[in-house]
Amino acid sequence: MEKRVYNFSPGPAMLPLPALEEAQRDLLALPGVGISILEISHRSKTFDDIIGQAEANLRRLLAIPDNYRVLFMQGGAQLQFAMVPMNYLRGSGKKADYVLTGSWGKKALQQAKTQGEVRVVWDGQATNYDRIPEQGQLDLDPDAAYVHITSNETIQGVQFPTEPDTGDVPLVCDSSSDFLCRPVPVERYGILYACAQKNAGPAGVTIVIIRDDLVARAPADLPSMLNYRVFAEGKSVLNTPPVFAVYIVKLVTDWLLREIGGLDKMLEINRQKVSRLYETIDRCEGFYEAHAAPGSRSLMNVAFRLASPDLDKPFLEQAEQRGLAALKGHRSVGGCRASIYNAMPVEGVETLCDFMLKFCEKHKA
Ligand SMILES: *Cc1c(COP(=O)(O)O)cnc(C)c1O
Repeated sequence: MEKRVYNFSPGPAMLPLPALEEAQRDLLALPGVGISILEISHRSKTFDDIIGQAEANLRRLLAIPDNYRVLFMQGGAQLQFAMVPMNYLRGSGKKADYVLTGSWGKKALQQAKTQGEVRVVWDGQATNYDRIPEQGQLDLDPDAAYVHITSNETIQGVQFPTEPDTGDVPLVCDSSSDFLCRPVPVERYGILYACAQKNAGPAGVTIVIIRDDLVARAPADLPSMLNYRVFAEGKSVLNTPPVFAVYIVKLVTDWLLREIGGLDKMLEINRQKVSRLYETIDRCEGFYEAHAAPGSRSLMNVAFRLASPDLDKPFLEQAEQRGLAALKGHRSVGGCRASIYNAMPVEGVETLCDFMLKFCEKHKA
């Protein structure tokens, strides 16, 4: 088999090896079925069981209350950017509040503007999105249609340490890049959505956890595929769902439950990985500079710059030679970014830290 490298890509990202191995082993024929997951009918009992288990795993991992639906949708997180305002802003006579902590939140806002009136209740632009606001800095409207946040900004590497208090206004959250990285109090959210390709599976499926009263309120005059109520009534199989992607979500959540032991354990491991990385950056102070401010730092994406942009190229090339792939940062932040999602092993982070220390020794002025 081709050797696997440590893939620090922001997404699609590394998947847990045991999940990939199980998928590989069973690819030609699912045990006891004799048909590949790629060939099976989405109306079969086999798939019904798989999607049911994926949902049950998510319910267990996140302790999802009974008054929430779990939907498996398509169109990525970006379709949710549009669907949320289509269902709950358009025609509501209200405005929607958006907290802008980075690039994805801005994209969500752009989509909402096509459906109704929005307010930006905080914008981190002044410091190039290096921090998360304090509760007191949010200019929230108690009569807003909803408040939208991005719990983890993948590009800037900033993450809400806890969710803001939005009172009775539904909190809507794009959790694409930190879904399942730690326990979350689902009952504090109206809608929590995440595309799968960062932490939960492959591209093609988006998980939407949505409270019953919001499901019931979806307007009747929307096309079925864009209507949360119709989609929920259709149990996520209104049309042919992304069967393979749902299957991998089932395997990844099996891994989280059986091999990791739940989200408290996952959080402990994620904390260990991210501390190692920031300690390394701090040890080379003046050579590496972290983008995110302390207190706002993401467990999942670590953005940092080198002493000079001229060093980016040799850094990335030499990292690649050591089997450390996809460390290039986003142009809006510059430098490098290590995405260390759940499936990145501790050894991957240790190998990176070791490389970073040696590179700093060799190149610091
Ligand atoms: C990757 C990402 C997205 C984009 O999701 P698509 O599935 O490509 O639409 C949206 N939000 C965040 C926070 C992301 O990390």
